[in-house]
Amino acid sequence: MNKLQKPNPSIDLVTFDLDNTLWDVMQTITAAEKLLRGWMAEHTPAALGIYASERVGDIREQVLKTHDDKRHDLSFLRIAVLRQCMLAADMSPADADENAKQAFAVFFAGRNDVAFYPNAITTLETLSQQYALYALTNGNADVERVGIGRFFSGAVSSADVGASKPDQQMFTTVLAKAGVSADRAVHIGDHLSDDVFGANRAGMRSIWFNYEGQATNDTDHKPTAQAYALAELPAVLASLDAARTR
Ligand SMILES: [Mg+2]
Repeated sequence: MNKLQKPNPSIDLVTFDLDNTLWDVMQTITAAEKLLRGWMAEHTPAALGIYASERVGDIREQVLKTHDDKRHDLSFLRIAVLRQCMLAADMSPADADENAKQAFAVFFAGRNDVAFYPNAITTLETLSQQYALYALTNGNADVERVGIGRFFSGAVSSADVGASKPDQQMFTTVLAKAGVSADRAVHIGDHLSDDVFGANRAGMRSIWFNYEGQATNDTDHKPTAQAYALAELPAVLASLDAARTR
């Protein structure tokens, strides 16, 4: 490290994990699955019988085997599984395609109707006035559809990159897209390996969104700082930002 380099460089970019950082993913997906099954019960009941049975495990495995190159594209995989369920219910390929697309659209609307954590919107609003924000997610939520696109300068997902956090490609891709060096970027996320370890290894600082108040002595996954609630983030980021602590 250059002797003249500040230990806490200014922050030009904040990257955000989405699932379990801005909203409760389990609650969101459970509600989306319910919508999907409701649609299938009405429109494709035979395919629902297969989707809701143990057979779906084999179908999923087969889809993953056939589309190994798409294993990071959750939307693609879900449509492919739905299509196979439609085909297994004796639908023609054309009908299976069409119904899988429609069923997925119902799921995806629910997937993006997220169960926000307290203060998510006001925190994003505050932070977006101070920093460039990028979404960096292993999931398939769409910040525009979720209704928070106006706070973000961009988004990078596993489906875009063909890899998932903590893979370094995720972090190098978002840094390149934002045109910011690693030492001037901070990543925020709930997962000690995917988010904290991944960001640290990429040379970024990390904030662990520790919403469950967990204890950890894991030295390999040591965050630069922690936040226990989203509303704490502006102050936590300010404490890491040389431009604001001078
Ligand atoms: Mg997460």
